[in-house]
Amino acid sequence: MAKWVYTFGGGLAEGGIALKERLGSKGAGLAEMSALGLPVPPGFTLSTAIGQQYLANGSHFPPELAAEVDAALAGIGAIAGRHFGDSEDPLLVSVRSGAAVSMPGMMDTVLNLGLNDQTVEGLARVSGDRRFAFDSYRRFIQMYGDVVLGLDLTLFEERLEDYKLSLGLMLDEELAAENWQVVCDIYKGLVLEELDKAFPQSPSEQLWGAIRAVIASWNNPRAAVYRRINSIPPSGGTAVTVQAMVFGNLGATSATGVAFTRHPSTGEKVLWGEFLPNAQGEDVVAGTRTPQDLTERARQETGSDLPSLETMMPETFAEFRHVCEALERHNRDVLDLEFTIERGRLWMLQARPAKRTAHAALKTAVDMVHEGLITKAEAISRIEPRSLDQLLHPTIDPEAGGDIFARGLPASPGAASGAVVFTSEEAELARAQGRKVILVRVETSPEDVHGMHAARGILTTRGGMTSHAAVVARGMGKPCVSGAGTVRVDFLAGTMTAGGRTVRRGDMITLDGGTGQVLIGAVPLREPELSRDFAELMSWADEIRRLKIRTNVDTPADARAARNFGAEGIGLCRTEHMFFDVRRIQVVREMILAETPAERADALARLLPMQKTDFASLFEIMSGLPVTIRLLDPPLHEFLPRGDAEIEELATIMKISPARIRARTQTLAEANPMLGHRGVRLAISFPEIVEMQVRAILEAALEVGDQAGTPVELEIMVPLVATKAELDLIYARIHDSEAQVKKLHGRAPPFKLGTMIELPRAALAAGQLALSATFFSFGTNDLTQTTFGISRDDAATFLNTYLSMGLLPHDPFASLDREGVGELIRIACERGRATRPELQIGVCGEHGGDPASIHFFAETGFDYVSCSPFRVPIARLAAAQAEIEARQKDDIDG
Ligand code: ADP
Ligand code: MG
Ligand code: MG
Repeated sequence: MAKWVYTFGGGLAEGGIALKERLGSKGAGLAEMSALGLPVPPGFTLSTAIGQQYLANGSHFPPELAAEVDAALAGIGAIAGRHFGDSEDPLLVSVRSGAAVSMPGMMDTVLNLGLNDQTVEGLARVSGDRRFAFDSYRRFIQMYGDVVLGLDLTLFEERLEDYKLSLGLMLDEELAAENWQVVCDIYKGLVLEELDKAFPQSPSEQLWGAIRAVIASWNNPRAAVYRRINSIPPSGGTAVTVQAMVFGNLGATSATGVAFTRHPSTGEKVLWGEFLPNAQGEDVVAGTRTPQDLTERARQETGSDLPSLETMMPETFAEFRHVCEALERHNRDVLDLEFTIERGRLWMLQARPAKRTAHAALKTAVDMVHEGLITKAEAISRIEPRSLDQLLHPTIDPEAGGDIFARGLPASPGAASGAVVFTSEEAELARAQGRKVILVRVETSPEDVHGMHAARGILTTRGGMTSHAAVVARGMGKPCVSGAGTVRVDFLAGTMTAGGRTVRRGDMITLDGGTGQVLIGAVPLREPELSRDFAELMSWADEIRRLKIRTNVDTPADARAARNFGAEGIGLCRTEHMFFDVRRIQVVREMILAETPAERADALARLLPMQKTDFASLFEIMSGLPVTIRLLDPPLHEFLPRGDAEIEELATIMKISPARIRARTQTLAEANPMLGHRGVRLAISFPEIVEMQVRAILEAALEVGDQAGTPVELEIMVPLVATKAELDLIYARIHDSEAQVKKLHGRAPPFKLGTMIELPRAALAAGQLALSATFFSFGTNDLTQTTFGISRDDAATFLNTYLSMGLLPHDPFASLDREGVGELIRIACERGRATRPELQIGVCGEHGGDPASIHFFAETGFDYVSCSPFRVPIARLAAAQAEIEARQKDDIDG
């Protein structure tokens, strides 16, 4: 027969932390503490399996459950020395929710259960405190009414307020025993009035009502939303813990509180927490009274004139401190504890791993390694890689508050304030004048890159997490909020409106790219500090991981930043971003608009030295590390001017007619540029561009290699390849350029030739491609687009629907789709390595910085991932975690 009920108490327990899945984290924690001999009120836990079955089977329990519960209740009674339903000396219980993954405060709990018109008199007698008994009873009716009977809490609160008013009293403390007794009658009347049914007097009926309600609270909207945000599966269900009540509201020597074994926001090794004398658990959360500090030290820091627990109850406090230390040592983690003191006696009511800031998580993990409590691998596993964002970017001061103007997607983390501008030109001008600005666009295009560079942050009203704005901003490490759909921009008026409010050009706003908030005004920010702890944890991650971490950069500034963050080379240098530089876009346009080969050759000759210096500085910065350069990728029309004014301007400079520019733009225009004349197709049509780029790359590598005394580790790759024939044609041209360099300089630098894999055909033909290519770099952004047939630029309108309807488990552009895109990648790796066992494999799409995707790449045997500079530390940590997991799996598999 299945076991449904697990008991604990009196220094014993069935189960403990190891049974967390079955007992829920609360039940498991209570069992564990009880088995350690700590003071825990006795109780029992109905397993999560009961919760799941009940919700799945139309609210039925297995028939044998009632008897098991009765037996367990009798067991509590034996330990507590009083019995459930006994009217002389009643045992009261709490009925508490608790899922395997703790969801603080999301589900329901009922306290003081077992009170009725008879038992309340018994409680009054045994406790010698009639006021306490009736206060507890009215709390019970109120909680039971809310949680089990579905009555609105405010109904109870209103009646209580009316009653106090009628007495001319303000505070609960002023009510006497008789008053609380009247309140109980008022509450019972309220229940009868609302439900046409009397408040249940039978303790057993109360108990089963509460058990059912607590199980059902798994599906309340609050909990459902919390699960969605935290990616907790909806199937887990909650366990139910029934536990003997202890009372923190039995006068001045009683209290209830919460504590953290270390400070949850700084991570400092100090006991920290709050308590309320003469109170029950929910009072601390309700915020109706000001909680007091646990320790004297904290009281001095907060300047509170209410005494600390340390001075109020020195002996109990000393015992509590001792329990905290023992528990932390036993669990080897920072804990969040709930406790109650009943007439000087300490009772532990909950222990769970503490939620903490990224800063505290880092500090406590590193400290605990030094204290010999945990291993380096455990420290690494405890840090959520994404939380490092909080440490690497400025963030909004949590104490600052702020006035929210609109919300969008949290596209690139960090926070920034600045004056609103609506064009990239304004942004550049403003920077030149030393002003801080936020660039607001409907969406951005490669033409905006200079404006994005100049701005402190970027806000777009269209586009998703992998829109141009999002990707480029992450690359730059700048805050970006994308797809703020409620914002309407009026470029002519120079305003944007949302929710009936208007922000004008020049007005200050603040973006929080970590949450997607747009705030009015300049909100105070906190600068990031990279601590010694950070460096130390990262060095441990580096010792463990096998995956190399490279970076996607195009500019020397970004390359330097990435190296500081620990990048081990460049996995993707996009040459087109260099083309957009203000000083050379002009020449690029002349090259594109050229009508004769001679004209084009002239423009390219002017571009050559510029490209050469770009590459040379990247090679210098990355000295000793591999650098992968991708040949020109985007379709040429992206480089041409769009608006009339710009076309006129270019025509004047070039001394040609605007009509000619328009005509050329029209010839180059495409209905679907994403699948158009780009990548290798461009290299096939415009051999002279390839020739110029390769010469610039090779000559730069030669110079820098000579200066440094070691050759540059150069890799050249071709984008958007589908067939081996394409690759071979371009490789032949690259070798022609190499021959030319040899002729000019007497030699050429060594380099590797590879290909991007970003089309399903390329993945399938990988065995063929590997005959020519010596490395693969998966362009997972395009591979996701082409595998799904979804255009990233147009996805915003329907992808969210897919996600909210559960048609996709997550955004495949943010985190790799293992089932489809991942399968293509596996096939490509297998076929590629079958042809060429030493084939080097990496990824340069956005997924290279996503922790879940990094696990996939590690499992699939990649050599490296490449990501934007600010994600390099995240990737280093995620790669180490992937390796730790793989080793654990090996251990289990034997
Ligand atoms: P949550 O998951 O929302 O924290 P809990 O089940 O922990 O809910 O209950 C909330 C509070 O109720 C606890 O912090 C504690 O103060 C109080 N409480 C729960 N069970 C008992 C009990 N057996 N005796 C005294 N207080 C209790
Ligand atoms: Mg709790
Ligand atoms: Mg691509």
